[in-house]
Amino acid sequence: MNQLAEAYDEGLRAGELRLQYCEKCERAIMYPKHRCPYCFGSELTWQPASGTGTLYSLTVQHLGAPTAFTDQLPYALGVVRLAEGVQLLGRLLPDADGGWSGYRFDMAVEFVPNPAGVPQTERPIAWFRPTAQ
Ligand SMILES: [Zn+2]
Repeated sequence: MNQLAEAYDEGLRAGELRLQYCEKCERAIMYPKHRCPYCFGSELTWQPASGTGTLYSLTVQHLGAPTAFTDQLPYALGVVRLAEGVQLLGRLLPDADGGWSGYRFDMAVEFVPNPAGVPQTERPIAWFRPTAQ
């Protein structure tokens, strides 16, 4: 088991996106680490994230997925820059038409806790969708 990511995974299972924070310099950290990458402090805690951010990049996978994901093709991966200033890789919910053509770089996106109708995976994944206008 990946102990570093355990709190992150538990949060996702509970419908919450969590970020690691450094108690010393109060900066958000992603991906989880044993020490703060900014001040090397070791007092790290977990707090709920805003869940809002912007889409930095995306790719729609049609072919060549890792074996564990071949039955989920096609799917979209997005790099999301959260309001807290860190970025992470997540999955993007499809548009109403089943594709992802409605997504644009730098558009506002939001975390979707435990969305219905998505493939279940052994490790939870953070899902995002365009922020409701
Ligand atoms: Zn720090």
